[in-house]
Amino acid sequence: MIFTIISFSVLGQTSFSKETQSYILHQKGIYVLQNLTIIDGLGVQPKTNQDILINGEIIEAVGIDLPIPENATVINMQGKSAIPGMVMLHEHLFYPKATPGGFGVNQMSYSFPKLYLAGGVTTMRTAGSIMPQADVNLKKFIMNGETPGPKMDVTSPHLDREGTGILELGPFTSTEQAVKMVDFYIEMGVTSIKVYNFISKIDLKAIVDAAHKKGVKVTGHLCSITYREAADIGIDNLEHGFFASSDFIIDKESDACEPFKQYNSVRKLPVDSKKMTDLINHLVNKKVALTSTINVFEPYTNREIVPGGGIDALYPEAKEKVYKRWASKQGKDSLDYVIFNKSKKWEKAFYDAGGLLVAGTDPTYDGRIIAGYANMRLLELFVEMNFTIPEAIKICTLNGAKYLEQDATIGSIEKNKIADIVILNDDISKDIKAIRSIEMVFRNGVAYESKKLFKAANGLVGIR
Ligand SMILES: [Zn+2]
Repeated sequence: MIFTIISFSVLGQTSFSKETQSYILHQKGIYVLQNLTIIDGLGVQPKTNQDILINGEIIEAVGIDLPIPENATVINMQGKSAIPGMVMLHEHLFYPKATPGGFGVNQMSYSFPKLYLAGGVTTMRTAGSIMPQADVNLKKFIMNGETPGPKMDVTSPHLDREGTGILELGPFTSTEQAVKMVDFYIEMGVTSIKVYNFISKIDLKAIVDAAHKKGVKVTGHLCSITYREAADIGIDNLEHGFFASSDFIIDKESDACEPFKQYNSVRKLPVDSKKMTDLINHLVNKKVALTSTINVFEPYTNREIVPGGGIDALYPEAKEKVYKRWASKQGKDSLDYVIFNKSKKWEKAFYDAGGLLVAGTDPTYDGRIIAGYANMRLLELFVEMNFTIPEAIKICTLNGAKYLEQDATIGSIEKNKIADIVILNDDISKDIKAIRSIEMVFRNGVAYESKKLFKAANGLVGIR
C-alpha cells in the first residue's frame, strides 16, 4: 500500500565530497568484523563472538567464525558490541529560538545531520519541517555523498489551522487548501505528512485520504482531535506518547483544542485508568503506531543539563540559557515528574498490548534536546522504563523500519540487509550506557567516525 520511496544504489562507490571523506573511517568494501557482541534489533537475547561479513552495502553473513573471503579486510572487534543503525521517527532539523510572537525555530542543516549520524541514527523521519525544500535537498546531498548524515524520510511542515504559535508555520483556512498542501509537498519530495493541534476531523479525513492515495503516511501531534477519533479516521501514527491525548477531557468540545484542560486531564488521570487501557486497545486494534518522545519530558532535578551529554554542542548564548533554565528547575519540577512517570508506564503498556511503539527525540522545547545526544539518551530512558536492552534497541531500530515499511532492508543486523551498523567500544548487552561509546557508524556499508562528527558540530547548534 505504501510505496518504498528510497531505492539504494548497489552500483558501487558513491563519490564523496572532501568534507564527507574526512569523516569516513572505512570506505565501501569487503569487511569481516570479528568477535562482536551483537544485539540484532529483533528484540532477542544478545549473541556473543559474532562475525559480520559486509560486502559493499550488504550484510552477507552473520555468525561465529565466518570464513574470510579473498580481498576481505578483517577487523578484530574483541570487547566491542554492535547494534543496528537507529531508525528514528521524530528527528527535526531545527532548533528553538526566541522570536517575535514567542516561539520560532532555526534550520540546522549543517550540524544536525552530523549529530544524528554520530549518535547512531542511519535513517530518520523529520516529523515536521520548517524548510521542506531544504530538507528535500539535504536528503539528496546526503545520498550523493556531498555531506554526511542519515537517510531521510522528509515530512511536510506541520499542517494546521490558525492557532499554532510557531513563527515559521502558516495555517490553512479551508479543507480544500489543506489537500492542496498535501499534494504540493508530496510533489516536492516529501514522503510523510504531519498534522498539528488545531485541525478539524473533516480536515484530517481529507488529508489522510489525499496522502494515502499517494502511498504516504500521516502522523499527528494532536489536540483538537482525540486519539480515538484520529484512529477511526485512519491516521497512521500519533506523536509524543499519550501526552497530547485529549481523550480524557470531560465534555470535550468537538474539534476544539483546549491545551490547559488537555494537560490537566492527562496529569490527573490515574495511572491504571481503565479509560487508558481501552484507548490503548483501540489504537492497537486500529494498528496506529505511537511515537515515544519520552526524552523531552525528562525532568531536571538530579538529571543531566543536556540529556545525553551534549552541552558543548550549543553556541554560547544557548548554552547559558539552557543551563539557567535547568538550574532554576532544580527541586521545582514535581509536576514534570508526574507526567513523566505516568507516560513511561502508559507507553510500556501500549507496547505490551502489542502496539507498534516507535521512537523519536523531538529536538525542540527549551533547547535542552540536542540531535544525536538525545538519541543515545532515549535508549537509556527506555531501559529506565523497564524495557529490556534488546527491546529498547528494537523500538529504536526495527520498529521504526516497520513503520516506514523498510524492514525488508533495514532495522536489524541480518543476512541480506543493508549494512547500517553501530559499533560500540563497550558491551551494550551488559549496560545500556555503552550507547555513549559509539566508535563508528556504518551507513550503507561506509563507516563514519562518531567522535569526529560530534566534534564538528561543537558550538554550532542554534546557529547552523
Ligand atoms: Zn516535534
